[in-house]
Amino acid sequence: MANRSSIFTLRVVVDFLMSVLEKSSSPGMGPWERDGCYMPNSWQNDRDLLPSRETLITMLRVLPGAFFFIDDTETIMYANASAQAITGATLEELRGTPFWRGAPQLVSSELYHAMLQARQIQASTEVEYCSPVTRTWLHVYLSPTVGGLTLQFHEVRAPAQRKREDEIRTLVDAIPQLVWIAGPDGYITYNNQRLIDYLAMTLEQVEGDGWMVRVHPDDHQRVRQAWQTAIQTGTPYEVEHRLQDGTSEAYHWFLVRGVPQRNAQGMILHWVGTCTNIDEQKRTEQQFKESQESFRLLAETVPQLVWTMWSDGRLDYTNQRYRDVTQANLNLEGDDLWRQFVHPEDIERTLMLRHQVLKNGNIYENEYRLRDGRTGEYRWYLARALPVRDEAGQIVKWFGTGTDIDDQKRIEEALRQSQEQANILMNSSIIGINIIEGEQIVEANDTFLRMTGYTREDLRAGNINWMRITPPEYRALTQQVHQQLTVQQYITPYEKEYVCKDGSRLPVLVGAVVLQHFPYQSIAFVLDNSARKELEQRKDAFISMASHELKTPLTALKMQAQLARKRLERQSPHEAATALSRVEGSIQQLERLIGELLDVSKIQAGRLEYLQEIVDLDTLLHEVTDTMQQISTTHTIVVRGATLCSLEGDKDRLGQVFINLISNAIKYSPGAETVEIDLSASPEAATIRVRDHGQGIPQEQRDKIFERFYRVSGPNQKAIPGLGMGLYIVAEIVRHHGGTITVESEVGKGSTFSVTLPLKRSLKPESTSVPETLG
Ligand code: ADP
Repeated sequence: MANRSSIFTLRVVVDFLMSVLEKSSSPGMGPWERDGCYMPNSWQNDRDLLPSRETLITMLRVLPGAFFFIDDTETIMYANASAQAITGATLEELRGTPFWRGAPQLVSSELYHAMLQARQIQASTEVEYCSPVTRTWLHVYLSPTVGGLTLQFHEVRAPAQRKREDEIRTLVDAIPQLVWIAGPDGYITYNNQRLIDYLAMTLEQVEGDGWMVRVHPDDHQRVRQAWQTAIQTGTPYEVEHRLQDGTSEAYHWFLVRGVPQRNAQGMILHWVGTCTNIDEQKRTEQQFKESQESFRLLAETVPQLVWTMWSDGRLDYTNQRYRDVTQANLNLEGDDLWRQFVHPEDIERTLMLRHQVLKNGNIYENEYRLRDGRTGEYRWYLARALPVRDEAGQIVKWFGTGTDIDDQKRIEEALRQSQEQANILMNSSIIGINIIEGEQIVEANDTFLRMTGYTREDLRAGNINWMRITPPEYRALTQQVHQQLTVQQYITPYEKEYVCKDGSRLPVLVGAVVLQHFPYQSIAFVLDNSARKELEQRKDAFISMASHELKTPLTALKMQAQLARKRLERQSPHEAATALSRVEGSIQQLERLIGELLDVSKIQAGRLEYLQEIVDLDTLLHEVTDTMQQISTTHTIVVRGATLCSLEGDKDRLGQVFINLISNAIKYSPGAETVEIDLSASPEAATIRVRDHGQGIPQEQRDKIFERFYRVSGPNQKAIPGLGMGLYIVAEIVRHHGGTITVESEVGKGSTFSVTLPLKRSLKPESTSVPETLG
C-alpha cells in the first residue's frame, strides 16, 4: 500500500507526464489518438525537445497506480496497465466505454462529486473513499486536462487504520528507542524522531540507504552484507555496529535489530527495527576482555602456578609455569588430575579439602608437596583458591595459585629446630637466663627465678632490676662490664654475686650477648657459682688446716729429735730412746696424714689400688677396736654382736674404714666416754654401726660430710683438728666394696654411722648363716 510520500511523488511524475503529453500531440488529432492513443496537440511544437511519445506512454503504462483519461462525456480514452488489471479489461475493451461501466470497481458517489468539482473549478482535486465493490480504500487524484480529466487511483489504508498507524507512529516517536521501518527491499521508509534526532538527518536524507553515511566506515561492509542477507533470506537482522551521532559526530555502539512483518500469505510487508545503544555493554565487555587479557598476562608473569577452575572442579585455565612444573596430563578429570603430582602422603588430605571447599564454597588453602615433572623432585607448595560468584551468589569459577614455599618450609623447620634448642636452653635447669632491657629484667627462665628466689609475678610486675640485685661492692664491676657489652656485643663470663629476694647472697658466673638494638636488649646466662665458691673456700680452709696439721707433728719431731741428740751427747741412752719413740709417734702421725693425702689424690685420679682377699669381718673389727682402744685414753670402745661373715675385699682398706669411723667418733664426742660398735648381718649383707654420744651433725650438712675436704662449720668444730679427707676416703672404699654408708645424727646427742657390705662375693659358705644368739 502506498504511503503519502509515494503518492506525492507519483502525482508529481504524472503531472509532468501529462503536461508533456499535452504538448506533444499533433494538431487535428485527439491527444490520445495516435497509435490508438490520445496525444495532446500542444506538444507538437516542442517535439524535438521532448522525450519520445512512446517513452512517455510507456512511463504512464507502468505507473504503479491505476490511471485513466476520460473525456468530457466520461468516456474512457486511456487506461494504463494497472487500470486494466483492476477492471479486468483490455485497453481496446475499455476505450470508448463510459467510465462508470468500464470500471465499476472504482465507482462511488464521492468520485462522481469530485469529477464535477474538478470540471467546475478546472483545477486538480483529490478524493478518498471506500470502494463499495472491493471494500478497499482508494485515493484519487483528479486533474482536468485538454478535453477531459485524468484520474489516478491509489489503494490506501483505511482512515481508521491510518489513524491507528499515526498513533503508533506518534508513540514510536515518543519512545526512547531508535526505531526504523524499511520496505521489503530494505529501503528505509521511516525513522522515528529519536533516530532522526540522533542521526541529525532529515527523513529524506535517511530514506533508502542514506543512513549508511552514519555507519562507521570500518563496519560498513559488515552491515551492508548482513542487511542484504537478511533481506534475501527474510531472516531477522541483528548486527552490532557503530553509528555516528550527527550532532557530536561521536560514534556509539548500537545493537541494530530488524524483524520482517509478513502478511497472511507470508509475504514480507516491511521490516521493523530498533537500534539500542550498547556502548556501556561494549565498554564493559571491552573492559572484561582487557581485564581477562591482563589476568592472563599477569598469570603468565607471576612466579606462581596459576589456574582457574569451573565450579564443578574441572580445570579451565593453567599458566605456562603450571604446565611446565607439573608436566601433567591436564585432560584428566577429577581426582586423577591431582594424583599425578601431589605427594602420596598429601594426596588424601588434599582431595578431601578440595571436595569440602567445592561443596561449601569456603576459601581453599592447603600445603602439599608437588612433584616437579621435570626433575621428579617434590617441593612444598601453598595452594590457595578463591571462589568467584555471580550476582545471585552462585560460584562461577575458582581462581587459584600455587606458591613454592619449599625454602620457606625449610627455614621454618630450621627455625623450629633452633627454637626447640633455644627452648631447651631456656628451660635448662642448669643455666639461668634473663633478658635485660635498660636496668629491667624483662624475661627470665625458671632456673634464674629459682636461683634468685623471685617469682614470675615479680618479673611481670617489673620488680627485678639487675642493679638492685647486684650487691654494692659488685656494682662498679657490673657497670664496667655492661659498657664492654655495648662496645663488643658480648661479655666473657665474669664472677659476681646476686642479692636474692630473701637477702641472701648467691655467687654467680654471668656471660651476656646483645640480643637486639631496638629496643636495646641483652641476654644474660647465669651459672650458680656457689658450689665452686664453696669448694674454693674448702680448699683454702684445707690448705691452712693442712699446714697446721703438718706443722704440729713436724715441730714435735724436731723437738724430740733435738732432745734425743742431747740425751745421746749426755750418754743417757734410755732417755734418748724415749725421745725417739715419741719421734716415731710423730712420724706415724705424719705418715697417716700424708697417706690420706695420697689416697685422696689417687681416688681423684681413679688409681686407688685394692687387694682381693678374704676378709673375716669380726676378726678385722676386733683387731681395729683393740688398736683404737690402746690409743684412746678417754673412751671405752664397746663391741656388740658379730657378723660371723667373711667377704672378698681389701682387708687394710676395710680396716681403714673402721679406724676412721671410730677415730671420728672419739674425736667428735670429747665429753663422752663410750663408743659403741654394733655388728649384725643378714643373708645378704653385714652391717657395722659406729655410735658416739658427741656433738652430732646438723641435718643440712649430713650429705656433704662425705665430700672431699668438707668439714662441718661451727664453733665446736674449729677446735677439733682434721682435714675433711677421712669420710671421703671411707665412702670411696665402701662404694668400691659394693656397700653403702649412711649417717643418723642428732645435734648435741651423737651420731651413728652405718656401713652395710654385701656378702654376695663371700667365699665362706657359713658366712651366710647368722647364729640366733648373735643376731
Ligand atoms: P675430719 O678430718 O675433719 O674429721 P672427716 O672426713 O673424717 O674429716 O669428717 C668430715 C667432717 O664430718 C668432720 O669435719 C666433722 O665435722 C664431721 N664428722 C665426722 N664424724 C663425725 C662424728 N662422729 N660426729 C660429729 N661430726 C662428725
